[in-house]
Amino acid sequence: MTDNETPVDAASSDELMEKIVNLSKRRGFVFQSAEIYGGTRSTYDYGPIGVLLLRNVKDAWWRSMVQMRHDVVGLDAAIMGPPAVFEASGHLANFSDPLVECRECNSRHRVDQLEVENVCPSCDSKDSFTESREFNLMFKTQAGPVEGSGHEVYLRPETAQGMFTNFMNVQMTTRKKPPFGIAQIGKSFRNEITPRNWVFRTREFEQMEMEYFVPPEEAPKWYEFWRNERFEWYLDLGIPESMLCMRDHDEDELSHYSSGTADVEFLFPWGWGELEGIANRGDFDLQQHAKHSGARIEFFDQATDSRYVPHVIEPAAGATRAMMAFLIAAYHEETVNDETRTVLRLDPRLAPYQVAILPLSKKEDLIGPCERILADLQPHMMADYDITQAIGKRYRRQDEIGTPFCVTVDFETLEDQAVTVRDRDTMEQERVPIDGLLAYLLPKIGK
Ligand code: ATP
Repeated sequence: MTDNETPVDAASSDELMEKIVNLSKRRGFVFQSAEIYGGTRSTYDYGPIGVLLLRNVKDAWWRSMVQMRHDVVGLDAAIMGPPAVFEASGHLANFSDPLVECRECNSRHRVDQLEVENVCPSCDSKDSFTESREFNLMFKTQAGPVEGSGHEVYLRPETAQGMFTNFMNVQMTTRKKPPFGIAQIGKSFRNEITPRNWVFRTREFEQMEMEYFVPPEEAPKWYEFWRNERFEWYLDLGIPESMLCMRDHDEDELSHYSSGTADVEFLFPWGWGELEGIANRGDFDLQQHAKHSGARIEFFDQATDSRYVPHVIEPAAGATRAMMAFLIAAYHEETVNDETRTVLRLDPRLAPYQVAILPLSKKEDLIGPCERILADLQPHMMADYDITQAIGKRYRRQDEIGTPFCVTVDFETLEDQAVTVRDRDTMEQERVPIDGLLAYLLPKIGK
């Protein structure tokens, strides 16, 4: 909870989440994992539509953080790591949350997330909790062919350590000089005590992180830069300003090595929640790995003939959590001709499909032009193709998954070589020649 939290009506907040979860299941955004076996708690699979949305979120991040910058390079590091890495990073000693167990029903809870102090949320018992103890969130497993004799490995709880341990490899191979960054998107794992709120907090999730290495004296300047840059990224992709805020951590919230941390927060149906943290981490990470590994980790500045350990500014975002925020912000219901129209007003760059091709009838004559249009558009965008049901129903189905444009091929098309393009948001229709369709759509979908 933060100071600027707007109280949300609990019933309507539950109702909105239920609608989004149902829509996601019905249309193939997100499924409960292993559902046919009863489902695995807090584990989700991204379906045919969800995988497109999630991929677009990650692509938009990569585009703005790597493609559009000359000072950031990418990395895809291993998910499994040896204990030494996490000893150095401090995760083995400190990456924990306070856990209590209810003596009445044996359920376990994270103390700092209890809605009512000393009341068990599972059985409502009062004062039934055990002493709080620190529970480490790392997943540990064995690598090696013989059970029990292999060596221990951990699943990474964040992608960041791969960027620190590869600092020298990346710096030497790319010849980048600070300020420069290493960016990575990938899965992370945390044995969360209370996973909840759909894909907001899960045990397996995807992150988008960047470590920006800077000369120590430039750290405050770059911290400000990335704080603003990252906030703007969400606005640019369509999150309304009223649903977004930047929250600076108080002194007592900061980790001992951080001289500044701010969270980008989103107004979820239940209140404000973190989307991303931006932290000024000093030289803590590189110093720790240098100390524990014995490797020399520093930058040699030829211009001044001196060596220094760069400081790090880290914008760390959740891809799956961001996807959920984009879905919530885009969800709208409106009344059209006495019927409720559900529409996802997703930015066209994030929409699973940018266009849907809809022949007015299944008749052979219309299928040929549709296939030619698909072949024209598919190299440039995701195009859906739907030939069954009444056209009105098909428009509604596309509205529900956020497709910004529907292209209808009708019998007139055979005469005038033109199609009707329907705009998702205004529902206005425009006749466009097939030859000019690609050029008409590209600027509208941000290409
Ligand atoms: P929280 O306080 O919510 O547990 P955190 O501050 O520990 O999060 P970070 O370590 O800063 O989170 O991770 C960066 C981002 O990764 C978060 O802002 C969030 O978007 C995402 N993230 C972290 N934990 C989870 C999770 N269990 N499920 C989904 N996304 C997560």
